[in-house]
Amino acid sequence: MPAPPLPHVVVGAGAAGLVAAITCAGSPDRRVLLLERTREGGRKILVSGGGRCNILPSQIEPARFVTGSSPNTLRKMLLSWPLAEQRRFFTEEAGIELALEVETGKVFPASNSARQVRDGLVALARRRGVEILFDSRVEDLAPHPEGGWSLALHGRGRLDAAAVVLATGGRSMPGTGSDGLGFELVQRLGHSLHPTYPALTPLTAEPPRHAALAGLSLDVTITAPGSGQGFTTRGGFLFTHRGYSGPAVLDVSHLAVRSRLAGGPLQPLLVQWTDLDAKAWDRELQEGTGWVLTALRRHLPDRLAAVLLQETGLDPARPLHQLRREERLRLVEHLTRYPLPWTGDEGYRKAEVTGGGVPLSEVDPRTLESRRCPGLFLCGEILDAFGPIGGHNFAWAWATGRAAGRGASGRP
Ligand SMILES: Cc1cc2nc3c(=O)[nH]c(=O)nc-3n(C[C@H](O)[C@H](O)[C@H](O)COP(=O)(O)OP(=O)(O)OC[C@H]3O[C@@H](n4cnc5c(N)ncnc54)[C@H](O)[C@@H]3O)c2cc1C
Repeated sequence: MPAPPLPHVVVGAGAAGLVAAITCAGSPDRRVLLLERTREGGRKILVSGGGRCNILPSQIEPARFVTGSSPNTLRKMLLSWPLAEQRRFFTEEAGIELALEVETGKVFPASNSARQVRDGLVALARRRGVEILFDSRVEDLAPHPEGGWSLALHGRGRLDAAAVVLATGGRSMPGTGSDGLGFELVQRLGHSLHPTYPALTPLTAEPPRHAALAGLSLDVTITAPGSGQGFTTRGGFLFTHRGYSGPAVLDVSHLAVRSRLAGGPLQPLLVQWTDLDAKAWDRELQEGTGWVLTALRRHLPDRLAAVLLQETGLDPARPLHQLRREERLRLVEHLTRYPLPWTGDEGYRKAEVTGGGVPLSEVDPRTLESRRCPGLFLCGEILDAFGPIGGHNFAWAWATGRAAGRGASGRP
């Protein structure tokens, strides 16, 4: 009797691995095995979007992704699965109805339940015939001398595979299962790594100058002046007990983190606290009537208005018409180019994603097959790319997971 064909193995049942396994499965002559080190997989999906899972953006913006690799390659990989098809996959195949949050442009499951997304994908994988082995940590993998792959499982011996999809994530939020072992595995196989760093992570301030404002949130614009045109992002800002968070802070955090890791001067981050730019504030303060504090309160939360004013040393009860030009300009600067006093970051512990990773040039952009090790496919956060807050990182995980699953199955 001929030996049964070797299974196709997907390592990691996170966002990318689940879609890779679903895509790879579905043919009666192909056995697909999904190995996951945690007890239930998809833990990052469960905690995503504050438990609601911002599953996709309403529009994909490749230019806002960050990579040390070719932006064109990234674009090709990201757009390989058009958004409309991704939406159709979730609604029609996984049975997850989607809803657009118009104010933010984010797409969530209509149930607002991240669990529905994780469970829906696990159930679809099983319906497609994927065998899922939880509590299965892959410790090593190597090409088999007779073709295919040999994997070493912690406490469970070895397993042979026809092809392997590595979807082990990065180092972000290690409690969800991604502790960086995937990076070690690919390096042992001869891949290089663009240096990794925590991204989309809150910033800290020591001393925590604004701790008394913890919990306060508002929409701001943050600029990170630097080489070229610098970087500007607009969105939610949240004061925390230890520093600063919210989408705008997370989106700019990689520049802060990288400056800290480089050991040079810390990246300046300048905050414009309201929609009013310097010109508009200048006019408002020159032409307005009443006290300075009252003018600020018209556009800012009371507590923040009071703190900002206190920091400028101006008397809150000073009538606007008495402000000297120099005082007015100092206040305008404070309101539109406020140097955020960040000193550190929350690191991988709270990072939503990992920056850096396997250079995109080391995989075939269509099939995601390793150019170093034929028969090995890479997808998700292990690759050198991440996007802004807003569903882009799942879009990356779903698109690359699908491409790797198709690649491993030998489909064009
Ligand atoms: C708090 C938080 C909120 C987020 N919210 C959003 C959001 O709303 N929208 C969005 O687009 N993105 C969000 N993200 C980012 C998003 O979750 C990630 O980009 C995405 O999950 C990455 O998918 P992945 O499959 O590559 O990696 P992971 O989700 O990390 O999955 C990797 C899997 O591999 C397993 N694994 C690792 N090593 C091994 C091994 N050796 N053997 C076996 N299994 C292994 C892990 O246990 C894990 O299950 C959020 C992230 C966090 C941390």
